[in-house]
Parts: sequence; structure tokens; C-alpha cells
Amino acid sequence: MRCPSCKEANKDKVIDSRLTEGGGVIRRRRECVECGRRFTTKERIEEELRLTVVKRDGSRVPYDRQKISYGVSHACYKLPITDSDIDGLVDDVEGDIFKEHDREVSSEEIGEFLVARLRDLNTVAYVRFVSVYRKYSDVAEFVEEIRNVKHLAETQIPQQGSLFSE
Ligand SMILES: [Zn+2]
Repeated sequence: MRCPSCKEANKDKVIDSRLTEGGGVIRRRRECVECGRRFTTKERIEEELRLTVVKRDGSRVPYDRQKISYGVSHACYKLPITDSDIDGLVDDVEGDIFKEHDREVSSEEIGEFLVARLRDLNTVAYVRFVSVYRKYSDVAEFVEEIRNVKHLAETQIPQQGSLFSE
């Protein structure tokens, strides 16, 4: 630490330490041995994923990997997709998010990243996911998306029945 008065670095000694903020922060009282100035530092645990999701209505919630995994699992129900495929997909989506954002990301943008990754993984899962995801979005846009993908799904998986039956 650099003393705020005489600017000497690493010439301080810790004279008191205590936990604050429910144990998440250590507050240390330090004294500069050069000039006698006392000052306080705080140490905080560095969290790996501290990202806020901004929802459509403007409210903010902490990023939750479980929510994404759950949505993807639901879309992949009874398809030949393993848990590790889903885990890998969520890893890729997190990579996409953190390449562009370090504090806040909109829920729409997470959805777009997810849809793009899911399209590469499995067409049926993609259509199912989009049908749920777009429910709250623009209807015309949704119909257009389904029209584009339905053709793909039918040509690639002819034995598949109604794509929207659960
Ligand atoms: Zn000093």
C-alpha cells in the first residue's frame, strides 16, 4: 500500500483488522511507519461472475446460469442431446456474453446469443426454444422466424411430428 500522505509504498503496518458487511469484506487499519499517517483499506472477495441482467421492463437481476441451463434443457427434452452438450452450449454463451460485457447485459442479448448457439446444436431444440422465447416479443418477427426454420426442420428431420407439441 502507498501512504496517502508521504506516498511511500509498503512502509505501512496493519494495526487492526475486522470483518464487515456480513463477513464479505476485511477492513484493515494501517499506519505508515515513515510519517505516522493512519489510513484504512478494504479487501473484498473477487467473484467470478458478477453480471447483472437487464430485463425488458428495465428491472435488474443477478445473472443466473441455472436459468439458462433450464431453458435449454427444456428445449432439448427427448432429443439426442446430453447434459454435457448443454453445459458446453451454456459455456459458449457465457463466452459470448463476457467477450462484450463485464457488468450488464440485456436479457434480449442473452437470448440472441443462446438462439445462435442452439441453431448450430439442434434444429428442433432451436425451434422449440425460439417459440417460447419469442412469445413475449414481436409476433410478426416470431412468425417469420418459424417460417424460415420450419422448412429447415422438415427437410432435416422428416419423421418429426408437430414441432410445438410438448
Ligand atoms: Zn507516510
